[in-house]
Amino acid sequence: MALVPEVVARLVKAAEVSVTVEAGAGESAHQPDSAYEKAGAELGDGFSGQVIAKVAPPSADEIGRLGRSTVLIGFLQPLTAHDTVRALADAGVTSFAMEAIPRVTRAQSMDALSSQATVGGYRAALIAAEHLPRFFPMLTTAAGTVRPAKVLVLGAGVAGLQAIATARRLGAAVQAFDVRSAVKEQIESLGARFLELDMGMEDAEAAGGYARQLTEEEQQRQRELLAEEIGNVDAVISTAAVPGRPAPLLVTEQAVRNMKPGSVIVDLAAETGGNCELTEPGQTIVRDGVTIDGPLNLASTMPDHASSLYARNVQSLLDLMVKEGELSLDFEDEVLAGACITRDGEIVHEGAKQAA
Ligand code: NAD
Repeated sequence: MALVPEVVARLVKAAEVSVTVEAGAGESAHQPDSAYEKAGAELGDGFSGQVIAKVAPPSADEIGRLGRSTVLIGFLQPLTAHDTVRALADAGVTSFAMEAIPRVTRAQSMDALSSQATVGGYRAALIAAEHLPRFFPMLTTAAGTVRPAKVLVLGAGVAGLQAIATARRLGAAVQAFDVRSAVKEQIESLGARFLELDMGMEDAEAAGGYARQLTEEEQQRQRELLAEEIGNVDAVISTAAVPGRPAPLLVTEQAVRNMKPGSVIVDLAAETGGNCELTEPGQTIVRDGVTIDGPLNLASTMPDHASSLYARNVQSLLDLMVKEGELSLDFEDEVLAGACITRDGEIVHEGAKQAA
């Protein structure tokens, strides 16, 4: 849900805006209509505002209901949802994609990619623990000692680091790998080991703190080196991603065969095709005794906190857009300029334009 009652109350009181909430929209995030009304919102048509805040990209039907000067905020997938972006431009909508907000210090409170990846990483570790037919922690019992589960996290961005922290809290022995060597210290500070792979290349950090796409040769070498390591762990949680690209393939069918029966792979990259060759997005399958789970939209499996964090991200963005109760868009502001995808009938976001 894009706004929770606590944030509605702040918007109504501090920002002096009026808020309309689509009746029933908050139900699955356990926010009843009555809570929104108590916070000062009206219930009504979710498409009647000057600014519409959503979670997912709009459907074609929804775009048809947006007025020409409407401002739309949401996860719009500007690099991959070409038809949606084109339709928003054609409809004259001024759209802002949460995932395009520049990841600068000033915009940290608006960083919805991070807030939702935090939920995803946490849930991924719990799913791995749930599937694994073994304990995560080390146990010393009268019936003998149980060794801790070995967990390997691939990709140590926001989701990966949260998966590491959660698996560590559950007592697993965790190691992690990323192509950006800057994360080594962060991995170690969470009590995990940085897996050193001799990839024969320099650090792969690119603009904005993201990874660059590896060459085919580098990827091949990575897959071979990882296949060996994967055979020694009980669970793999993979989160590797390159913005606007299909997920890099890291776990081959051969690597899965190297795993012991009962082992688990939770592939958080399923949304963009998966880091594992065998992942079936949205499905849990068992191959050679290995459970491979490719969950989609994990944030929605923890809707209360996913919504309250997202709503605070949206509120921070709205704070930039609303001055004394009036909508006032300053496109000189790098955050608004960077997040804007369509405006005045054009696609204005460089990445979205090129992708389209
Ligand atoms: P992401 O979801 O795009 O990628 C997840 C991880 O996968 C990244 O750590 C990436 O390096 C890794 N990866 C890509 N290809 C790989 C491969 N072949 N093998 C192994 N790992 C691979 O990234 P994200 O989590 O959204 O963010 C990544 C980074 O962006 C952060 O760690 C940080 O440096 C930066 N960031 C900055 C801010 C800020 O300044 N406000 C906020 C959030 C993130």
